Amino acid sequence: MTIQSDQAVADRQLFIDGKFRPSESGASREVVNPATEEVICRVAWGTVADVEQAVDAAQRAFEGGEWPKLTLKQRGRLLQRIADAIEEHAEELALLESLDVGKPIAFTRGFDVPAAADLFRYYGGLVEQLEGSARPAGSRSLAYTRREPLGVVAAITPFNFPLNLLVNKLAPALAAGNTFVHKPAEQTPLSTLRLAEILSEAGLPAGVFNVVTGDGATVGARLAEHPGVHKLAFTGSTETGKRLIATAAGTLKKVTAELGGKGANIVFADADLDAVTQWAFQAAFFNTGQFCMSGSRLLVQRPVYQEMVDRMAAAAGAVTVGDPLDPQTVLGPLAHRAQLDRVVEYVAIARAEGAVLRAGGTAGTTGGGDGRGFYHLPTVFSDVTPQMRIAQEEVFGPVLTITPFDTEDEAVTIANGTPFGLAAGLHTSDVSRAHQVAARLEAGIVWVNAWAMFENSTPFGGYKQSGYGRELGPEGIEEYLQLKTVVINAE
Ligand code: NAD
Repeated sequence: MTIQSDQAVADRQLFIDGKFRPSESGASREVVNPATEEVICRVAWGTVADVEQAVDAAQRAFEGGEWPKLTLKQRGRLLQRIADAIEEHAEELALLESLDVGKPIAFTRGFDVPAAADLFRYYGGLVEQLEGSARPAGSRSLAYTRREPLGVVAAITPFNFPLNLLVNKLAPALAAGNTFVHKPAEQTPLSTLRLAEILSEAGLPAGVFNVVTGDGATVGARLAEHPGVHKLAFTGSTETGKRLIATAAGTLKKVTAELGGKGANIVFADADLDAVTQWAFQAAFFNTGQFCMSGSRLLVQRPVYQEMVDRMAAAAGAVTVGDPLDPQTVLGPLAHRAQLDRVVEYVAIARAEGAVLRAGGTAGTTGGGDGRGFYHLPTVFSDVTPQMRIAQEEVFGPVLTITPFDTEDEAVTIANGTPFGLAAGLHTSDVSRAHQVAARLEAGIVWVNAWAMFENSTPFGGYKQSGYGRELGPEGIEEYLQLKTVVINAE
C-alpha cells in the first residue's frame, strides 16, 4: 500500500491473534490530521472484552504454537527480517507518522522510521548472546542460570513518538521471547496498526503482537491490572505513570515507567556559543517541543546571558512553522488540540509570573497558513526564576525558558531543583568541569556539548519522578527477562 498525502487512509480495526477485527462494542473514533484538522480515518475503539481476547491470544502464543519453538538463531533472524520489512515500507510509514502526528516529513524519513528498523536489527543481533552462566556450587552439585522471558508484555505509549516508543519496547521484548499487547495513544494509532501488518508479512506468528486501540482509562487500565499480563512497559506522563504503577501493584507485575521531564541545558561562559545556539534550539524545539527529553530550561552563566537570550530569540524568530509534508519544514503543529491548549495556557501563566517574552507567544503559522491546524510559534522567555511554574512544570510544547546563574554550584542546584530527572546537558570547553558537572546532575542521561544524541547502545530512563527502568542498549533487553537458577544434585 502506498499513501499519498491527499489520499484517504482506510479505516482501521483492532489487531488480535493475527487478524484485524472490529471492537466488541462496534465503536470507532476519528483520527485527526493535526496540520489540517481533517479526519484521516476512523479506528475501532476497544473495550475491556477486547483486552481479554488480546491477552488470551498473547498467552496462547507464548505457551504453544510456533513462537516458543523458535531457536535463538531463528528468533534473531526474524527480527532482522522485520528490520528489512520496515525499511521496505519506510516511505509509507514516514508519511503515515507525519499525517497522524504532524511531525515534519524530513524527520520521520530521517529519524523515526530508520531508527525503528535499526533497533530491530540491534536486538536481533543480541538474541544469540542471551546466555546463562555456570555458578560455583558444592563438590557434588552443579548450578547454572537461565534467562527466560516474562510472558505477556503490555505496552502503553504516548502520542509524541508513536512508532519509536513502541519499537523501543517491542524489539527487546520479542528478542527476549515474550508476546505483546499494545495500546497506542488515542490520538496517534496509525503507525502501530500498519506495523502489525508488516510484522505478520515478515513472518511473526499470530498472537505474538496484538493491538487494542482505545481509551487509557478502560483499555490501558485493564492491561495494567490484568493478571495474565506479566510486565507493563509504560511511557507517558508522571501523573498517569503513578496511577498505573499503583494499579499494576495488585498483581506485582514488573513495570518500567518512562515519564515526564524538565531538562536543564547549562551553558558556561567558556562554551562555543555558535554551537550552543544550534544545540539549544534543537533541544527546546525538536518535535515541536513534544519531547520528554527536551532541554526546555536553558541555564546561562551571567557573562554570556544577554547574548544567549538574543541568539535564542533570533533563532526562534527565524524558523518557519509549517506544513509537515513540506521537506523544508522544521517545526510542525502540536499533535492534537488539547496539547495546543496546554501550550497556550502555560504561555499565559509565564507572562503572569513575570517572565519576559522574547519570541513567539502565539498560536498560528508563520507561513501564511489558512488558520487551520494546531500550530504554535516557537516561544522564548527570559528572566525566568527557578521557582516559577514555567520553570518547574512540563509544558510539552515549543516553549523555552532562560535563567541566569553565576557559579557552577548554583547551576547544578537549579538544574536538580525539579521533581524530574530524565535528561540534562552542559556546554563548556573545560573537560574537567564537564565530567564533574555531569556526575552531579540528577538525570538518566547527560549530554556534553550536544543534545539528544542517541545510539542503539546508549540506555536512557529516569531518575526521581521521571520513572524507572531503561530503554535501549543491553540494559533494555534485561527489562524483559527473568533469571532462573537451576541446581542439580549430582550425588
Ligand atoms: P499520558 O500519560 O496522558 O498518556 C500516555 C498513555 O497512557 C496513553 O496511551 C494514554 O491513553 C494512557 N493512559 C492515560 N490514562 C490512563 C489510565 N488511567 N490508565 C491506563 N492508561 C492510561 O501522556 P501523553 O500526554 O500521551 O504524553 C506526554 C507525556 O509522556 C509527557 O509527560 C512526556 O514527558 C511523556 N513521555 C515520556 C517519555 C520517556 O521516555 N520518559 C517519552 C515520551 C513521552
